[in-house]
Amino acid sequence: MELLFLGTSSMVPTKERNHSAILLTYGAENILLDCGEGTQRQLKMAGVASPKITKILISHWHGDHVLGLPGLLQTISASEYSKILEIYGPRGTKKHFEYIKKAFFFEEKFEVKVREIEEDGIFFENEDFCIEAKLLEHTVPCLGYRFSEKAKRKIKVDAAKKLGIPQGPLLGKLQEGKSVTWKGKKIMPEQVTYEKEGKSVAFILDTVMCESCVGLAKDADILVCEATYSEELEHKAEEYKHLTAKSAAMIANRANVKQLVITHFSPRYKNPEKLAEEARNYFDKTLCAKDFMRIRV
Ligand SMILES: [Zn+2]
Ligand SMILES: [Zn+2]
Repeated sequence: MELLFLGTSSMVPTKERNHSAILLTYGAENILLDCGEGTQRQLKMAGVASPKITKILISHWHGDHVLGLPGLLQTISASEYSKILEIYGPRGTKKHFEYIKKAFFFEEKFEVKVREIEEDGIFFENEDFCIEAKLLEHTVPCLGYRFSEKAKRKIKVDAAKKLGIPQGPLLGKLQEGKSVTWKGKKIMPEQVTYEKEGKSVAFILDTVMCESCVGLAKDADILVCEATYSEELEHKAEEYKHLTAKSAAMIANRANVKQLVITHFSPRYKNPEKLAEEARNYFDKTLCAKDFMRIRV
């Protein structure tokens, strides 16, 4: 799994920081979280072709999170896109998507499936991973997301060698959690395999501190969290329903995550590293996101 930060500013972009967008790559899946203005160009600069995107998760319909959608859709439409593009978002997403299509001479040459998420919980699941959403508290309907890889059974190579089980279908069955018979003996999957826990990443953009933030991030490997302001501008954070670096760190702390990555910085901070330093007073393992930063999970 890899995260690629494509935009780490908040309401207006700066020379160094674009509007919000993060790409999560997992196998053949390329999931885009938000699509601020200029996201398709950021993708190009990062060497990712826009038509590789399989799903778009929209946190909310403020411009800094969605203004890049029309351009991205136009580019995908001009490619030979043979997949069905899935777009997920909060209440109102279908209406907003229809408005986008009406605002331009837009030729939809590929299939788009738009789904509004009405309830907290898992809304997508396959055999490798699931994605869940929780409603956060912002000035408009806003969702936080969590991507969780499923646990996988791995082979204990030494144990398999000791029993003399050859590579092939027998090991495959054991890996599926089934018992097999080898040289007249019953071998249980626990003898030669172990369960490896899946990794998980939570994304919290645009909210005030609420219990859903902690629930969504619980024990995650990585929490990507907005930290628009520093502690001394807490009154502004409350007024515009955003988090401070301190509150992002408090969420990470209470949720017991392994790593916090803060993003969505107010353009007033020329060097948001100051925000990361503030966060580290409350949660040590804090990183400051930068445009084009990649994190392997
Ligand atoms: Zn925002
Ligand atoms: Zn917002």
